[in-house]
Amino acid sequence: MQEFIREFVLKEFDHDFGEIPLSALDDAAIIEGIAFTTDSYTVKPLFFPGGDIGVLAIAGTVNDLSVMGASPIALSCAMIIEEGFSGDDLHKIMRSMSDVSKKAKVRIVTGDSKVVEKGAADGLFINTSGIGKRSEHLDHNIKTVRAFRKFKFNWPNDSAIAPGDTIIASGPIGNHGVALLSFREGYGFDTVVKSDAAPLNHMISKALKVGGITSMKDPTRGGVANLLNEWSEKSSVGIRIREEDIPMDDAVVSACEMLGIDPLEVGNEGKALIAVVPEMAERVLKALKGSAEGKRASIIGEASKSIRGVMMETHTGGKRVVEAPIGDPVPRIC
Ligand code: MG
Repeated sequence: MQEFIREFVLKEFDHDFGEIPLSALDDAAIIEGIAFTTDSYTVKPLFFPGGDIGVLAIAGTVNDLSVMGASPIALSCAMIIEEGFSGDDLHKIMRSMSDVSKKAKVRIVTGDSKVVEKGAADGLFINTSGIGKRSEHLDHNIKTVRAFRKFKFNWPNDSAIAPGDTIIASGPIGNHGVALLSFREGYGFDTVVKSDAAPLNHMISKALKVGGITSMKDPTRGGVANLLNEWSEKSSVGIRIREEDIPMDDAVVSACEMLGIDPLEVGNEGKALIAVVPEMAERVLKALKGSAEGKRASIIGEASKSIRGVMMETHTGGKRVVEAPIGDPVPRIC
């Protein structure tokens, strides 16, 4: 994906336009004061424990706006439907989209549908785009950061983390990828793990209201390992995390052990990692815990200038370099 972006997108497109431009490769662009993002969903299978492609398509785009600190306004929905796709399934998926958008209080206001011949698509693909705007809470958040240090940005973003910032995980990680794998043909193991897919805008709004957040990001494809490496690179800081503080369900840990995959590399669809000025970290944590999606939030580490890249203190007291995953341990999870 990184190579695709370098070789094709950045080479062919004018990419330095806007306050947070395309070249920032952040969760959303900021253009004329508006946050704007898009994502395509090709998940396989379409229905899985804890959700379906419709839940993902709404939650994923709402979350990409929310982690920029934006308050989501509206979404578009475009569907590519394979000829002969079940009408019952389509109803179920549309209903999921409607339910999740109501929960997030974000409306779907425009869209498109195309039907393609059998074999040209794998059942159903969905693309959603979304726009978001500034809010009082975002303004308060930025003001709060500036009470503690110089901060040139108007939005939390991947390049804004400074040494000392506290890193918080909003809840247990790995559930979405493991739920999907467990359900897929060919793997056939039983687990109680369900996808965590959920919109996070209400939770994030509560955290912004407290203030002090310098960056947020959802650990989707490539998981926490990919996210932390992106942060480290774009903000030019080292990041230290502690394995024992990373919230994880036992069932996720044992499934990952059995499959030989690293839970840090598994995708999530209802979690955020949040970097906060250290002075405000406990208060932001408390606000997260007061929200349904953030009950199990935990401080997992901090940014540091004394290390390079991402380093984890392990359960056994050792140190492990956390690298960005090269391949995708669980393909087509979103
Ligand atoms: Mg994202």
